[in-house]
Amino acid sequence: MTDQTKYVYDLNEGDASLKSLLGGKGANLAEMNRIGVPVPDAFTVTTQACVAAMNNNGEWPAGLREQVEAALDRLEERTGKVLGSTENPLLVSIRSGAVFSMPGMMDTVLNLGISDDTVGAVAALADGNERFAWDCYRRFIQMYGEVVEGVDQYVFEDALTEAKEAKGVANDTDLDAEDLKALTKKFKELANEALGGHWTTDPREQLMRAINAVFLSWNNPRAEVYRKANGISRDLGTAVNVQQMVFGNRGETSATGVCFSRNPSTGAKELYGEFLTNAQGEDVVAGIRTPRNLAEMEDVLPEAFHELLATMDKLELHNKDLQDMEFTIEDRKLYMLQTRNGKRTAAAAVKSAVDMVDEGLITKEEALLRINPSDLDALLHPAIDPNFKATAIVKGLPASPGAAVGALSFNADDAAERGGKGESVILVRYETTPDDIHGVMVSQGVLTAHGGMTSHAAVVARGMGITCVAGAPGIKIDPKGETVTIGDKTYGTGDTLTLNGTTGEVFEGAAPLVPPSINEDFEQVGAWADEYRRLGVRANAENFEDASKARELGAEGIGLARTEHMFMAADRLPSVRKMILATNEEERAAALEEILPLQQADFEEIFSAMKGLPVTVRLLDPPLHEFLPNIVDQSLLVQKLELTGGSEEDLAKERKLLAQVKSLHEQNPMLGTRGCRLAMLYPSIPEMQARAIIRAALAVQEREGETAGIEIMVPLVVIKKELEVQRDIVVKAVEDEFEKAGKRVDYTVGTMIEIPRAALTANEIAEAADFFSFGTNDLTQTGIGISRDDAEAGFLGHYVDAEVMSKNPFESLDQNGVGQLVEMGVEKGRTTKPGLKTGVCGEHGGDPESVEFFHRAGLDYVSCSPFRVPIARLAAARAALREQ
Ligand code: ADP
Ligand code: MG
Ligand code: MG
Repeated sequence: MTDQTKYVYDLNEGDASLKSLLGGKGANLAEMNRIGVPVPDAFTVTTQACVAAMNNNGEWPAGLREQVEAALDRLEERTGKVLGSTENPLLVSIRSGAVFSMPGMMDTVLNLGISDDTVGAVAALADGNERFAWDCYRRFIQMYGEVVEGVDQYVFEDALTEAKEAKGVANDTDLDAEDLKALTKKFKELANEALGGHWTTDPREQLMRAINAVFLSWNNPRAEVYRKANGISRDLGTAVNVQQMVFGNRGETSATGVCFSRNPSTGAKELYGEFLTNAQGEDVVAGIRTPRNLAEMEDVLPEAFHELLATMDKLELHNKDLQDMEFTIEDRKLYMLQTRNGKRTAAAAVKSAVDMVDEGLITKEEALLRINPSDLDALLHPAIDPNFKATAIVKGLPASPGAAVGALSFNADDAAERGGKGESVILVRYETTPDDIHGVMVSQGVLTAHGGMTSHAAVVARGMGITCVAGAPGIKIDPKGETVTIGDKTYGTGDTLTLNGTTGEVFEGAAPLVPPSINEDFEQVGAWADEYRRLGVRANAENFEDASKARELGAEGIGLARTEHMFMAADRLPSVRKMILATNEEERAAALEEILPLQQADFEEIFSAMKGLPVTVRLLDPPLHEFLPNIVDQSLLVQKLELTGGSEEDLAKERKLLAQVKSLHEQNPMLGTRGCRLAMLYPSIPEMQARAIIRAALAVQEREGETAGIEIMVPLVVIKKELEVQRDIVVKAVEDEFEKAGKRVDYTVGTMIEIPRAALTANEIAEAADFFSFGTNDLTQTGIGISRDDAEAGFLGHYVDAEVMSKNPFESLDQNGVGQLVEMGVEKGRTTKPGLKTGVCGEHGGDPESVEFFHRAGLDYVSCSPFRVPIARLAAARAALREQ
């Protein structure tokens, strides 16, 4: 049975819509040809043929060889040239071309068809240019030898270097016809030697072998790595383009180059490109010679230059996107060899999209769908100057983007002190804990040896827009000696390092920085996003600066203000401990009295920053032992006092503290006495917090004429009764405050949904709740049954690498697992209360894919760290647009 599948398309049979079959390069060549841009004639072997061969141990599908032969016949007919002819030889290139562009990852062979028999005719047809003909020939032997026959690259490179040295010249272009002829001879000998005499000379056979080599290059290691990094499936295969050669190496009236329709680094609409005269394409793309700025081409080849400008405009207009193009000029005539949508920086993505809307090239909707929300992150932080070139001394995880330059600090107190005085410091820690927060806050960046992308350090750093490189492999930190050893060098407090939180790289010394690019274009994108999105966007913030920052970046309220950070502050810890260690209600009440005004002051700051917008305040959540010393440290302290004979009074005090620490110790604190469980045991805590919230709201209302919308949130509820009891406590305290003040403000009381049981019984819980906020961090931990800290330090990395899980579920919501709990919670909650307001707080609120999921799940808003607000706004708009 013959295979009827069409595996080969002539240039004029294709167009841009056939990308999955012809690959990006082939489809775009056909499309350029279709719209009248000069392209050398060609045919394309489909990705389907490559896949068929791959799936059959490299064996070509039946009929493919015949189809290639027939296409070659047609190409010969159209060009009037014949492969291998001694009078009018056709020369072709064999070019890979995947569906998604993988620049330089696969192989290309140029000048196929040149041989001992045809080289004379090639020269004759180029006005007797012998040098040109031999230049093509030696290039062919080298490329074909390497790519198709697997001859080692150095075999040819060494011979070329020798030839140049023998002549005492530096450049290939300084070799004349005789030199190149001798070099070609040498190349052939070397290739034949390497292959034990098996060098194929029949050009048709060479063509088949070259096509096969391109198929095989789909699976070479660098292509494999690139695919993995870019999420491109291995199953797609590559197309192969066989194209008539045009020659940029025919002398000084010929050239080759690369150009962009706009600057891919900044997005500006300006000339951007490079070229070389008397050269072949590979010379520019592979960096063999230093190319010249495209602007200089106007003097050298003015007509071709102006035609190129017009072609660039035409292609950009046609493709409605920034184009990255390859061209060749043969004896003053321009040919386009490739065009594709160019890769660009985040800044360029934003600027070019906004400009293109202004120019009427694309719509606002298209602009929003074109900008990758995650890219916006890079624009909110200073960045390392893109022209800075240095080798990183170590590469960790890109935990929080941006760039940081600073002198090293090895403990949080030192960082806090030096940072507080205005010094730029980088905090270097094995890993960071909540105790380090004061040091983290004033550092330029944080470098840790341990911990992942969602490690505490990373989360905190991202939340505050502080650069962080986490889990830097193999670095050795000596906190006592205040040094860190990276590679074979040791750095101390006097040394400066630069962190690139966008890539995870660490550099020695101070790299040059460029400021963040929050400009009009950035704001324009945000404004457009707001026109289309349905999902609200709030921020997680608990102080004035963060809240103000969030508002500036477009947050419409605060979805999570955590109160425990306020408890951690050094000046409050004594009162907090007094409260925890109280042995009776009076002592506890007295301690809470001390804390209340401090909390009130915090809330006033937040409400003032967010007046007119809603603020969700979460009542105390973490287990009490987090506010006490570590059990091991405290035991050691007691032992030390016992040994050194400390005063009886001290000893008694520390022993009592140790006893308390022991009594509060839990095997599984994450599943222990925390959230509302704590408030059930110590009702005076939520009562105090409710009073502080209301006093703050009233004070801001009084002072500023307006306050925030107060939403009081009870954490970790799993049973309706818990919420009813807590709600009662809160409402009583609130009403009491209103009565005393003789004034009221609006407020609501709601709960977090962060344990599967809460989602399962959301219809019951909704009876006592004014709103739900899904705590997706805990919901992920309890829904999947993994502890975040243990999993990230342990098996999770392996799971993601081995593709057992597609993503870290703490970074991007596990949509078909944990996501169901969210959907169920919303649905069940709304069966009880149709208009129930629902939101999400937790890291997922700033993850674009998760945001799109929350949109589809019908939530009212997401809440994320301030610096992710613009990302969430854009992601929410894209979700709405995709739905249309
Ligand atoms: P890559 O995908 O690695 O860029 P290409 O297939 O684009 O590989 O080819 C590499 C270089 O060879 C490019 O600069 C291209 O312009 C040049 N080239 C490819 N085919 C031809 C041709 N038919 N005539 C002239 N130059 C060519
Ligand atoms: Mg190319
Ligand atoms: Mg929680």
